[in-house]
Amino acid sequence: MNVSVRHVTKGFGATPVLKDISLEIRDRELFFLLGPSGCGKTTLLRLIAGFYQPEEGGVFFGDRPMNGVPPHQRNTGMVFQNYALWPHLTVAENVAYGLDVRRFSAAKKKQRVAETLGIVQMENLADRSPNQLSGGQQQRVALARALVIRPDVLLLDEPLSNLDAKLRLEMREEIRRIHEQTRITTIYVTHDQKESLSLADRLAVLHDGVVEQVGEPRAVYGAPANRFVADFIGETNWLPGDVETASAEGARLRTEFGRLLAEGKPGLAPGQAVWIGFRPEAARIGTDEVNVLRCRINRVTYLGEIEEYELALSATATIKAFEQNPLAIRRPGAELAVHVRPQNLFVMPR
Ligand code: ATP
Repeated sequence: MNVSVRHVTKGFGATPVLKDISLEIRDRELFFLLGPSGCGKTTLLRLIAGFYQPEEGGVFFGDRPMNGVPPHQRNTGMVFQNYALWPHLTVAENVAYGLDVRRFSAAKKKQRVAETLGIVQMENLADRSPNQLSGGQQQRVALARALVIRPDVLLLDEPLSNLDAKLRLEMREEIRRIHEQTRITTIYVTHDQKESLSLADRLAVLHDGVVEQVGEPRAVYGAPANRFVADFIGETNWLPGDVETASAEGARLRTEFGRLLAEGKPGLAPGQAVWIGFRPEAARIGTDEVNVLRCRINRVTYLGEIEEYELALSATATIKAFEQNPLAIRRPGAELAVHVRPQNLFVMPR
């Protein structure tokens, strides 16, 4: 089922929370709504579920307008952050609940519950009560309860945020597997960029009630639309500069730390003031023919798989660089050159 959100506006009292949001979520897609706390992602998810109505614009499931359709008639399954399981019902009864409301026969219900507990690999714990389950197992039951009705759209609101780091990774893989198996159109809300980069077919970055960018994880990480997206998804070093020359192939940029070449970047004009950005992992140790920055090491942080450096370009400008599997131990105070490939530079108007 494809889901269209068209020019949706929603506020609470005088505060606008969603400001003219439009999104096209494709059939069978695992789509992420990603953004910082308060950006409006839960409000948008609840609006798609039917708990809120938009003030302007509309939500469509396929060609069917959903404005005015109550939640229980939308055929969506929802999973909440806190699981919201019934403590007095067993696992199987919790999962069957959505079918009771839909008046399934006893035999059909039993079969469907067993099938769905199979999908989340919980068939052996069907008779347990929720308080006899671990957090990860409770989350599986919550998923089963949402899946049992065979929803057209699955809505997940920060489903892993109550789990510890290791379980979160495990359940991430589970959600990927379940989505691959069921191929239900899924809309997943999170503020965790790693979760969205690792799982999403496509993602939308929201900020202050506005969609900043939509795309596949690699496209958004590799070519963020603006500084907000670049800083929210991953880390970015920024240097102020000016455009010296610009052509279809690339731009020559002037900075107080030397000249930099950027590949591509249409739409730049000579003389334009810009921010030049690059990821810490794009800063490669050593010199090259172009884009060399000469620095002094301020700080070295050992993180196991990588060494993280804070490097001073001047008395006030610092950048961050990562080195994978370092051979030498580098010390603060030492000089170090790094270079950045022209295709790894972001250039944004200043
Ligand atoms: P979080 O990750 O913290 O849940 P979010 O991006 O999901 O954040 P929303 O829950 O959609 O954000 O909230 C967006 C804004 O709307 C916030 O400023 C919040 O305080 C406000 N808000 C949300 N629900 C209501 C409500 N029922 N009444 C009044 N204000 C609300």
